[in-house]
Amino acid sequence: MKRLPIHPQPLPNEALSSWIYRLADSYGLPSSTFMERAFGYAHLSDQQLDLAPPADLLMALAERTRVSTSRLHSMTLAGYTPLVLDSVAPAEGVFATYISQFPSFASVEKRFGRAICRLNEGDWLPWIPGFSREQPPICRKCVAQDSIPYRRIYWCAAWMTCCPDHHEMLEAQFFQPGIRRENLYAFTPPRAASREVVALDRLTLQAVTGGSVLLPHGRVISAVVWMRALRSLIDELIRPVYTLARSKQIIVRAWKAAGMSLHEGLGLVRVFEIMSAEQRERAFAVAAAAVDRLLEGSLDTRPANVKYWSMSTIFDPPPKHPEEDLLSRPPPGRAHTQPAPAKTWGELWEAAVAAAKRSPLEAYHLRQLMIWNLEGYVRSHPSSRRARATSHKPD
Ligand SMILES: [Zn+2]
Repeated sequence: MKRLPIHPQPLPNEALSSWIYRLADSYGLPSSTFMERAFGYAHLSDQQLDLAPPADLLMALAERTRVSTSRLHSMTLAGYTPLVLDSVAPAEGVFATYISQFPSFASVEKRFGRAICRLNEGDWLPWIPGFSREQPPICRKCVAQDSIPYRRIYWCAAWMTCCPDHHEMLEAQFFQPGIRRENLYAFTPPRAASREVVALDRLTLQAVTGGSVLLPHGRVISAVVWMRALRSLIDELIRPVYTLARSKQIIVRAWKAAGMSLHEGLGLVRVFEIMSAEQRERAFAVAAAAVDRLLEGSLDTRPANVKYWSMSTIFDPPPKHPEEDLLSRPPPGRAHTQPAPAKTWGELWEAAVAAAKRSPLEAYHLRQLMIWNLEGYVRSHPSSRRARATSHKPD
């Protein structure tokens, strides 16, 4: 097969559809026309190209552009299998498996006690929006700053709602690499992302670009665990109340942390991927507030009627140890006390006089001492020497 004479190289994290747009653009052709003439594929949508393009198309692209098939594979959501996504082929049981492995609060059994409204496992994939006509979102600031504007593959799944670099919400928008920068904000004004959403999306961006997440408290979590635990948490936040049982009040607290009442604005849909983009943003705002509180250990995760224990999650900070448990200290010794200072001669004399007043026997001893052996008494009681040296003669 003949090599294409012009073939721009893929850019970091570029989506396959974006690169094909740029390939076609370099020949002055619309993408669909280029794909039909060069490869015989006329009707592949951007979503099909970015999810899981036909293997023979990837091989033909690799042969004609000298970009390896593994590089092309990484430009699709199929490149996230099997670590972040189990598979890009919907299958029975994937929903239950994906959201059951790392639950946070709610019982998995109760979730599957009844059929799940509007869930069609024949076309469900985790994180992949079910509305096939929905344009994947972009960060318009990223695109405006690109020297060559392009779409990132990690914008093509609904695991983030904002750009952590620009703190701006992602917006669904028809995108072509040749788009004029001044037109990016022509129809939809920018929306700032909340602090919690930026923090959550920054962690998820680490997971989908680096394979692991470094949490603020220092724990490192594999993307395998992070993506499933986050998806489970979102499911717990949006699933019907009758499946929550005693964990309902934890979920209520999470919604409250995001400034909303339980399931506010969700409608009847309870599967994240088939919600509208607005409902998904809402669920994400609650997840972001919950993760923020869990990471700092400030979300009350006690189920109903429980006082003394809390649910634990992978988002929890490590337990704090009392400082004295971490330090090696000598065993406590006998209290060290200062010897009482020796009394002065005057004090001794006053004490002896006071005792003589109370007791005839003490009076007798005092008298004998005064008559016979004052100097000898002092010599035979060394502790009285200091008193003698510092005292004046008694009155
Ligand atoms: Zn951006």
